[in-house]
Amino acid sequence: MPDSDVLSASLSDSGSDRSTLRETGKIPFARWCPSPNFGPRPDGAAISLLVVHNISLPPGRFGGPEIENFFCNCLDHSAHPYFRTIEGIQVSAHLLIRRDGAVVQFVSLLDRAWHAGRSSFDGQEECNDFSIGIELEGADDVPYTSGQYHQLARVADLIMLAWPDITAGRIAGHSDIAPGRKSDPGPAFDWQHFRATLKQIRAARESV
Ligand SMILES: [Zn+2]
Repeated sequence: MPDSDVLSASLSDSGSDRSTLRETGKIPFARWCPSPNFGPRPDGAAISLLVVHNISLPPGRFGGPEIENFFCNCLDHSAHPYFRTIEGIQVSAHLLIRRDGAVVQFVSLLDRAWHAGRSSFDGQEECNDFSIGIELEGADDVPYTSGQYHQLARVADLIMLAWPDITAGRIAGHSDIAPGRKSDPGPAFDWQHFRATLKQIRAARESV
């Protein structure tokens, strides 16, 4: 997405959207696709970490309804041999950013989604308790789209405004919180580009 769009998209996020995110838990421009795979956060768990993932179903194939079906426990496991290997697994993420930048939300940000599994960040175990999980439709070695970087940064900016405990240093990949077990978002994810895009969006908002 060109830089001018970065600016206009940021300016279109109204202040009320940001101030209510803490209450609604819903990203205003996301399509709501509720998953049953969530629970309450433990008492006293402050939302303080953003985790970046990737997913594609089957791996490496993009564009179908399979991810949404999987997170909603209605994937047809007979449709592909890979789907047999994930039968019975109940997982979710708060958000999915598709290849075209469309944002889908499965779980309220206020609730605990099931995305991190066994994990720890900065000595704190069970990252699902205190994190927000964002899936990028993708694969470890396939470059992400500019629309995905833009939307991820836009969503991260809103989330960081609502929960200031999520600082730039508290945005991690799944591979960072579950090393050896998970590899996503993979070498294809350009952290430098993402962080630069996030900075640009924040600067544009702050200059208003
Ligand atoms: Zn992951």
